[in-house]
Order: sequence, then structure tokens, then C-alpha cells
Amino acid sequence: MSVRELFQTMTYGTAPEAADAARAWLDAHKRKFDLFINNQWVKAEAHFDSTNPATGEKIASIGDGGKKGVDLAAQAARAAFPAWSALSGHERAKHLYAIARNIQKHARLLAVLESLDNGKPIRESRDLDIPLVARHFYHHAGWAQLQERELADYQPVGVIGQVIPWNFPLLMLAWKIAPAIAMGNTIVIKPAPYTSLTALLFGEIVAEAGLPPGVVNVVTGGDQTGAAVTEHPDFDKIAFTGSTNVGKIIRRATAGTGKKLSLELGGKSPFIVFEDADQDAAIEGLVDAIWFNQGQVCCAGSRLLVQESIAPRFLDKVKLRMSKLRVGDPLDKSIDIGAIVDPVQRRTIDGWVQKGIAEGAEIYQPDCPLPDKGCWYLPTLITNVSSASVVVQEEIFGPVVVALTFRTPKEAVALANNTRYGLAASIWSENLNLSLDVARKVKAGSVWVNSTNLFDAASGFGGYRESGFGREGGREGLHEYLRPKWQARPTPLTTENTEKKAKVQPIPAALNGGKANGHAIDRTAKLFIGGKQARSDGNYTRPVSAPDGHVIGQVADGNRKDIRDAVEAAVKAADGWGYKTGHSRAQILYYIAENLSARADEFAQRISAQTGADDAAAHAEVSAAISRLFTYAAYCDKYGGEIQETPLRGVTMALHEPIGVIGIACPDEAPLLAFVSLFAPAIARGNSVVILPSEKSPLSATDFYQVLETSDVPAGVVNIVTGERATMIKTLAEHDAVDAVWYFADAAGSAFVEKASAENMKRTWVSYGLSRDWQSEEQGAGEDFLFNATQVKNIWIPTGE
Ligand code: NAD
Repeated sequence: MSVRELFQTMTYGTAPEAADAARAWLDAHKRKFDLFINNQWVKAEAHFDSTNPATGEKIASIGDGGKKGVDLAAQAARAAFPAWSALSGHERAKHLYAIARNIQKHARLLAVLESLDNGKPIRESRDLDIPLVARHFYHHAGWAQLQERELADYQPVGVIGQVIPWNFPLLMLAWKIAPAIAMGNTIVIKPAPYTSLTALLFGEIVAEAGLPPGVVNVVTGGDQTGAAVTEHPDFDKIAFTGSTNVGKIIRRATAGTGKKLSLELGGKSPFIVFEDADQDAAIEGLVDAIWFNQGQVCCAGSRLLVQESIAPRFLDKVKLRMSKLRVGDPLDKSIDIGAIVDPVQRRTIDGWVQKGIAEGAEIYQPDCPLPDKGCWYLPTLITNVSSASVVVQEEIFGPVVVALTFRTPKEAVALANNTRYGLAASIWSENLNLSLDVARKVKAGSVWVNSTNLFDAASGFGGYRESGFGREGGREGLHEYLRPKWQARPTPLTTENTEKKAKVQPIPAALNGGKANGHAIDRTAKLFIGGKQARSDGNYTRPVSAPDGHVIGQVADGNRKDIRDAVEAAVKAADGWGYKTGHSRAQILYYIAENLSARADEFAQRISAQTGADDAAAHAEVSAAISRLFTYAAYCDKYGGEIQETPLRGVTMALHEPIGVIGIACPDEAPLLAFVSLFAPAIARGNSVVILPSEKSPLSATDFYQVLETSDVPAGVVNIVTGERATMIKTLAEHDAVDAVWYFADAAGSAFVEKASAENMKRTWVSYGLSRDWQSEEQGAGEDFLFNATQVKNIWIPTGE
């Protein structure tokens, strides 16, 4: 084509990136790879093919680790743990720094290999994936350096099993490995079967950087190898990124084992455009939101919500922009959209689109030429759908955006939150007031104002709701790889019910004539639901006994209906309480403390009567409870979050938001102190609670009704249901409107709570039947409680031109 013709047509030429170095690396390994354990290649028993999605050709043969490979790697990581965790933070920092430097040194090779293996445009692997990988190791080298100073109360978790997906193969690896090894853990990682190559090259890179053998081990393989990791007894924690369905399987498989767990799962993130948005900027944003990495992005802006007043023109402009997108060879530097990772994935994408069409949706795809071979999908816009349409609800995980309209900001928020996911959101408006208000109200872990898909090591990434729990990046991400210093790994010996207790027989309230076993007793304590004392639905009561067996009181025997009522009351209260200022919440907690203090003797007597504690011990428990209320009154306005130092020109705010409704089961010991130590941090940070007091000694909690009633606690913020813990926890843990469950009782109940939580991906915090010293400030209070009472939302606000 002549220069004149080129100027006339303005067509792009090809600008391919050379793949020689990547091919040479593959050839040097004879295109056959085994497992990378202990800094060396270990033979795999079987192999599978890895193909180039842009051509369909086989690139290499990859080892399938299976259970045996995972065993070997787990042993290597276990052997390396004592020495690695004993290194000083500075020594570990030097190792992470060396890894970061080596990644930069091999950046081009890594980028080309990633694009060959995954099909993503070289522009993205070169300019986003690999630089962010290096950034993660630099940033976490810093955390290793500061660990003794900044995180002195914590220790590493131990040996970690990590399983990652194929959409950002090396980046997901870096998000997992950098914080883990920075904090002194050793790891075994299993890449996704489609994309193992950069993980294997990474193994060589860390060995070259001088990382001790066994600290990082790469076991490639299929889903069975993934299951071998998540089910392996020797891991102290599992970190998973992948689909919500597999996340649920893993939650159930690890339930009750005492393994820590973080899950980064799927999403269906809203991309909200208000009528006053800079529309051209929003359209470029949309390109980055849904056509970046072929839309195979967990936080892709796959639901376009446009204000009705601008929708027709905006959607026309989107179509025009789509017609200019170029799909083709990922190694071509001027391509916008690369190859879909595998034909299986392409079929899944198309399957969803066809379902949308069958439901009456309209489809727009530009008339864009596609290469003859390889695996491609045209950028797709779906309209004429309702909020219940399958294509609006399900994660398509491809270059497909579905558009809906809204009239008011309120409707935009309702539509945005009308999903089981909560990973990210993008908000476009020139009105600061409006955009920040919507940013607060959208339930998502990352919110980008007038921007999209921004990531950085200094900012935690992770989900709300069924997008999982745990964060990667930021200070909050470090907690996923740390355990309080006082706490050994919980190793529940059995998930059988370890509590040896006589079964208490509930009796109909009508038969409880104010006496039991010949002792005069108080009136029967009711339940406390929605700010009022309420009779239990079944109208049964339970006797409460002193240690010598004589009955000292009666409490209501709550049932499933009572729990449902309590949850309903807590849901009603949650938003109002969460939006109250920290100062107002603090006033109420101080007031509770004051009212408890006024009745200290009475509460001490009650503790003695229930537990047999002597007067001094009982008074000490009351004093500790008052002090704890002061602690959390103090924290009402001192744990709000921080500004993250990302490279963004603007502000990245990490807000500590309430989780919502927390169900809490108290232990039997310390009937007042444990009860207070659990509900106080939860409500201090803006959650509402349904709390099951000590089953054996519930009277300290039922006496507390009057303290709550006289302390201006809004109705529904604290709901207390007495009765049999095992029955009630079932309803709480399975309830869809409960966002988190804390269970501080037996191992069997702990396992049950973790398993049941998988249904709506509740966050859980359980004791596995191990007790803690509630009197101690270290064990009975502190950051762990605040951390579990909050979730971090990162709001990114670019400023300037
Ligand atoms: P996937 O869940 O099928 O697989 C992820 C990984 O888990 C792979 O390594 C796979 O081999 C392994 N695996 C599969 N079944 C397993 C099992 N039963 N036990 C243990 N491991 C098992 O997901 P995918 O298709 O590879 O990735 C796409 C999904 O990942 C999407 O849903 C996407 O939203 C999600 N994702 C989330 C994030 C995030 O940070 N939240 C990031 C990237 C991708």
C-alpha cells in the first residue's frame, strides 16, 4: 500500500512484538515442563497440553502434579518454613526486592510468554500485568522490612496452599505470593491449567534471585490438583482466586479444619453513567472496563447502567466506538482485543449470549474482521433486558456488556446492588456530591470514580457478598497471611460435638409456675428483639442452673422463628446504625458502660450464681466488661480507614465499612465479659447483631436487656435470643440476610457454621472449640475484633485534568 493510500484509509499496519526470546525459553526446556519444587524440576507423573489461544497450536506439555506432586511440594514448603519465618524482616525484604528486580530484568520475556499462553494483548501484559507484578514485590519487600515495627503482635500463618485462575496468570500469582512470603510464610501455588508457563518461569526467576529452596513451590495441574491443594491437611491456609462455584466447594471442603481461608471470586460489576458525566471519557472507560483482557476480568464493568435521559445517544456512541475496536493477534501492539483463552470458555460466553437472545435481548456486534484460526469473540453489547434477565445476573466472563437504564440516583444504587456479587463498581459523574454518595452506597470492594480497573499493591482488592472475602494488597491484605502472636494454629481434633453437657429439657412456659426444684425463682426472661422484650414463639422456657445443679432462673427457649424475627429486626436497623456518626455510636456505648457500672454489684452476683465465681472474680469480670465497652466506644471513631498511597494522581480511600448483620454465638465461659467483648466491637463499627448468649449461663445477657433499654440503643441494633445454641445457629448460619457469623463455642458448631456459610459466602470467625482468655486484653479485645467487624472498600478518585 502506498503512503498516499495509507493516509487516505488510515488503516493500521501490523506491529508484532518479537516472540523469539519466549520461543527460545520454551525450546530450551524442550517444550516439556515438570513441577518446580525446592528450586528444582521434579518429574510429574503425567502431562497435559497447553495451547496458544490465538492459533490453537500446542505450545508446551505441562506436568500434572496430582496428589503426589502436592504432597512433595507441601513437604518442601513445611521444611523451609522454620528458617524462612525466622529470618529478620530485613533479610526477607532483600529477597523480595531481588525478585522484583529480576522480574523487571525479564519483563519482556514474561510479557510475551503471558500473551502467547493466555491470548491477552501484548499492550496489556507489557504495560499492566508485568509492571504490577514487579510493583507487588517491591511494595511487599517494604512490608517485610517494616513487619517487626508495624505488625509486632502477629506471626506468620505457616504453610499456604494457593490456587489461581487463568485470566491474569502472573499477576494473580504475585498478589498471592508477595504478601505471603513477605510475612514469613512458605507457599505451594497451583496455576490454572490453561496458563502455567509464566508461573514456571517465575519459579526459575526466584531461584535465580537466590530465594531459599522450598519457600515458593509451583505445582501445575488440572482441577483435581487444585482439589488436592485445598484438601491437603498440611496447609495452614488456603488462598483461592477463581469462580464463585469453586469458591463454595472450597469453603465446604475446608470447613472445621482450622485452616485460614481467603476467597477472591466472581463479579458482575456495575458501570454507572449519570447524565452529567463526561460521556466521551465514560465511553473510553467502558472500553477499559469490559474489553480489557477480552472481558475475562473478575471486576469487569459488565453491567452498564445509563441514566435514561442520555441513554439513546450514549448507546449509539458506544456502538460507534465498538466499531473501531480491533480484534486479533495478541502479539500485535496495536490490537485492542486478543484471543479468548480456550474454546471451552468461548462456548460458555456464547451460551450465555444465546440464552439472552432467547429471552428477547437485542445484540450488537461490530462488523470486525477476525483472524482465520484461533479463538475469538466479538465485542458485544446486549440491550432490551430487565434486571432479572439471565445475562444481567450471571457472570459471562467475556467481552460482553449488558445495558440497563435508570431514572434516579436511588434507582441506580438499587440496580447496582441487585446482584449476589460485590467486587467492584465504576461511577461516572461530574458531580462530586453525587458520585461520592453513590460510592458509599454501592456494595463493592473497589469503587472507581470517573475511572475503572485501577489496581495497586498499596490498595486491597477483594469482594463483598458472593465475590468472596479477604483482601489482596494494602495493609488489610497482610492480615490474610498473619495470625495473632498468642494464637497457635487451631487444630480441632474432632468435629464431633466436644461439649460434654447434660441436655436441658425445655418446658412449656405455662407449666413454669414461678418455681423450679423447690427454689423460688425470678420471672422468666424473655427474648430481646427489635428493642423490645418478646415472648418466644414456641412459648417454651429453659431452666438455668447453678454449678451445684439447683435452678436459679428461667429463660425463653428461642426457636427458628425467633431467630428469623431477630434477623429481620437487625436488617431494619443496619443501615441507619451504619450511617450514624462514630461519635453518636460512641455516646451510646459509653452510656451502656455507665448503666452497667451503676448495676455492677447485681451483675457480679449474677455471675457468681451462674458460674460459682467468687465475689472478687465476678466483680473483676464486670469491671473488665465496662472497660471493654469503653475500648469500643473509643474505637467508634478511630478505625475508619486510611488513605492508600497508590500511584494514582488523586485519592485512594480505604474505608472500613460495617459488614451488615452479624450473627454471634457466645461461649459458655465468662457469661458477661465474652458477651460484651463480642457484641461491642460489632456494633461499635456500625453492624447490627443477633447474639446467642452463653447457653449455660444466659442470665447475664438477659439482665442486660434493661441496660440496653436505658442506653438509647436504637431498636434492632442488638437482638438477643436465648435457647439451644445448636438449633438457633443453624437458622442464623443459613440465613441469607445474615452477612457474617462469629461462633465462639464447640468444634462441631464451628465446622457447621463454616460449611453453611458457603451458601451466600458469609464471612465467618470461629473458635473451633478452643477457648481464649477473655480477661486478657491481648486475647479478648483488639484489632482482630475490629478487623472481623469491618470490610474494606477502596474508593479511587482521580483529581486534576
Ligand atoms: P475456576 O474456579 O474454574 O478455576 C480457578 C482455579 O481453581 C484453577 O486453577 C482450577 O484448576 C482450580 N480448581 C477448579 N476446581 C477446583 C476444585 N474443585 N478445588 C480446587 N481447585 C479447583 O475459575 P477460572 O475459570 O479459572 O477463572 C475465572 C473465575 O475467576 C471467574 O469467576 C472470575 O471472576 C474469577 N476471578 C476472580 C478474581 C478476584 O480477584 N476476585 C480474579 C480473577 C478471576
